[in-house]
Amino acid sequence: MAGLDKAGVRDADVAGKRVLVRADLNVPLDGGAVADDTRIRAALPTIELLREREASIVLVSHLGRPKDREPELSMAPVAERLRELTGAEVKLAPAVVGDEVAALAEGLEPGEILLLENSRYEPGEKKNDPELARALAGLADLYVNDAFGAAHRAHATTEGVAHLLPSCAGLLLAREVEALSAVHDDPKRPLVIVLGGAKVTDKIGVIERFLDSAEEILIGGAMCFSFFRAEGRDTGESLVDEASVEAAKELLPRAGDARAMMHLPEDLVLGREFSADTERMELNGIDVPEGWMGLDIGSNTAAKYAKRIAGAGTVFWNGPMGAFELEPFAAGTRAVAEAVASTDGFSVVGGGDSAAAIAQFGLADEVDWLSTGGGASLELMEGKELPGVEALADA
Ligand code: ADP
Ligand code: MG
Repeated sequence: MAGLDKAGVRDADVAGKRVLVRADLNVPLDGGAVADDTRIRAALPTIELLREREASIVLVSHLGRPKDREPELSMAPVAERLRELTGAEVKLAPAVVGDEVAALAEGLEPGEILLLENSRYEPGEKKNDPELARALAGLADLYVNDAFGAAHRAHATTEGVAHLLPSCAGLLLAREVEALSAVHDDPKRPLVIVLGGAKVTDKIGVIERFLDSAEEILIGGAMCFSFFRAEGRDTGESLVDEASVEAAKELLPRAGDARAMMHLPEDLVLGREFSADTERMELNGIDVPEGWMGLDIGSNTAAKYAKRIAGAGTVFWNGPMGAFELEPFAAGTRAVAEAVASTDGFSVVGGGDSAAAIAQFGLADEVDWLSTGGGASLELMEGKELPGVEALADA
């Protein structure tokens, strides 16, 4: 498996030191409590390693998209959950930086955790403000970035501060980069890329990247309608990401000469509207009549895709094949999820909704790597450098 050419936390000398850890603790909240703690759990191995080695930890993450320090987006529920999961002393700082925060950091004992407030409470976070980065660096002796899900952003906590302290990659970030790099650096063949979902503009770059390096590119979800529209077909009321139709038009002729076979659905499941109770119709074809929308790939397409995935040496899947949240339109996504889970090939799944689909079908433990980073995993797949990784010290 391809390695990460960055310093790793396992090799860092941390005993008795204060370590600033950037994690991705951007969890969904419900009524002031953590609704899903997957991301907190994913951050635990690095935190536990540092505690075992008698470091004290200053932990920082963003949470949601605060505009003006809304108390609803405080890290308090995360601190509570972290206490339950680690059994450690977890103090919640009253802010991200400042004199009071600095005093709390200085008072930390080995094994203790100080969780800073939501990094986006500071306007300098997203601006990658050098002054904020300096204040953050002043809180610790060493910086560890474990926030893979935020590594595609050059923000003060993910990029700026990395230049100001000795730095290294956390365990999760390193495993993410390794698993995802294995898909494009010398993958076991055939390499099968499965793309769907609704955020098409984010994913067209992945198709381009793999046109000449994968064997198969399988397309489903709302994404296929950008291509059908580009081909001049009827898409009815289907969700079409207009912004990506032009890109689809440019891609289509290139697909003919490419190494990869690009597959679009040959049948669909239609509904009248985006609802589980809507009238449903199976269409043996792809021209969607007026008054209908395509909400899933059809059974022939699903069977064909499942077969290609079963024969894969490596498979990367991002984006559901249909509106899997609605039971009548979940079959295509289920078929693909089951194929990804049971293939002998190396399987990697990225994307928040794809991960939710895998979990919904009870298959989360059956894939080789379930990425915690949607946007970051796509950018890595496109071959872009992630600023949060690049800024770390080399190995
Ligand atoms: P991911 O989070 O895995 O990257 P996206 O966010 O791009 O995936 O897309 C997931 C969403 O796409 C789901 O909410 C699903 O309902 C929706 N979706 C998939 N196919 C269709 C379709 N044919 N029509 C409408 N919505 C769709
Ligand atoms: Mg999504």
